[in-house]
Amino acid sequence: MRTLIRNGRAVIKDRIEDADVLVEGATIAAVGQLGAVTADRVIDAAGCYVLPGLIDFHTHVDDQIGRFYLADSYESGTRAALLNGITTLCTFVTQGQGSLLEAMAAARAKAEGRSHCDVLWHLTPTRFEPEELRALETLLAAGYRTLKLYTTYKAAGIFASYGRIEDLFRRLGPLGAQFMVHCEDDAVIAGVNAGALDLAQAHSHTRLRPEQAETVAIQRVVDLALTYRAALHVVHVSTAEGARILARNRSQGRISFETCPQYLFLDDQWLAREDGHRWLCSPPLRSCRAELLELVRNGAADIIATDHCAFRPEDKDSWDGRDLRSYPNGLPGIGALPHVTWKIWEDDPDRAALGLSTQLALNPAFRAGVQDRKGALAPGLDADIAVLDPAGPERPLRSTLVPAFEAFPGFTSKLLFRHVLLRGDPLVENGRLLEPDRPQGLPLQPSPETLSFH
Ligand SMILES: [Zn+2]
Repeated sequence: MRTLIRNGRAVIKDRIEDADVLVEGATIAAVGQLGAVTADRVIDAAGCYVLPGLIDFHTHVDDQIGRFYLADSYESGTRAALLNGITTLCTFVTQGQGSLLEAMAAARAKAEGRSHCDVLWHLTPTRFEPEELRALETLLAAGYRTLKLYTTYKAAGIFASYGRIEDLFRRLGPLGAQFMVHCEDDAVIAGVNAGALDLAQAHSHTRLRPEQAETVAIQRVVDLALTYRAALHVVHVSTAEGARILARNRSQGRISFETCPQYLFLDDQWLAREDGHRWLCSPPLRSCRAELLELVRNGAADIIATDHCAFRPEDKDSWDGRDLRSYPNGLPGIGALPHVTWKIWEDDPDRAALGLSTQLALNPAFRAGVQDRKGALAPGLDADIAVLDPAGPERPLRSTLVPAFEAFPGFTSKLLFRHVLLRGDPLVENGRLLEPDRPQGLPLQPSPETLSFH
């Protein structure tokens, strides 16, 4: 099957061209002025940008977080993704008590046959005995690449000390590991006098997890990464100062960071509302949002990702106004990602389209180690393609398709995904799934059962 996408404005890495895109089977065959080429199917992209399929580099679905189970399954999370041009959803597998391989197998079982877009897992190891480290080495050799570490959350059993992080940088860095680190310094948080705060006020969250916790941890982890030449990606940066430290130390592509739409478009005043507990997330919404937005407008962030973590309304509203620390932390975002990212540059549509191509496709593909398959409109790559009309009907944002409080109420968008192709198959037309009952997403990494462990 040959598909020709013509008359569109193709976003090719860092430039925009009036170019056709030819798809053969599951891959891109050619990009350029293709003249009188024949095809079985022609998509008219007049008035639209033709983008590489987008990637949400940071989401949480179908998982237990503390005492709450997330609202989104792989099915619903990937459905929201594909409808919004996202053809690869990156999510996490957390080790827990058993082996990482058991956790990986359980996550795959939940995803396979139910995902509407491709799925890639970041690994969150929580145990570091010699056999667990050997398993990690085998996974890295098999093409897994991203490891997530936390400088906080001791009670949840996922905390890694700076000493542990240093060991892992030294041992696994040379094997190609890309370290994703949640930076909030546990000692700074432990040093906050919670007794002096009104824990019935959601806004106190900003004092319990202060900006300084983030900037201290970022500086420590950056110093370690520079010492060991480790590839470091700091997740969900919420502070302007954190972004400045990282941008200053970005060297040869080995240090990068992401921020999230909520830190760019929502500030801590949302926590001061009567229903402010619905906006609890960690790190918290900040007062420096405009400053961070200006840095990101000027290209400071490598990736924009959601940290999508949707809870059911009854779980978010189980709030009894006593101690805000025992309530679910997290906001939905997958369905809003391209729309809110567009708003960063909305006075300049070409710049916004380039932002989508760079921060939502090219850079995440490189960080995830799938740049030979995903992330750009180039011959030989998977034909994951989003045809985006920037002048569709205006409608409210919908961060998730399952019941959950909207993170961006009152926000609207005119972006309409006219066509979304996943590995050459047209699966979305005019914002509708063509085959809602036939999810066609695949895991991007090999099944752990196929690997041999010694
Ligand atoms: Zn997260």
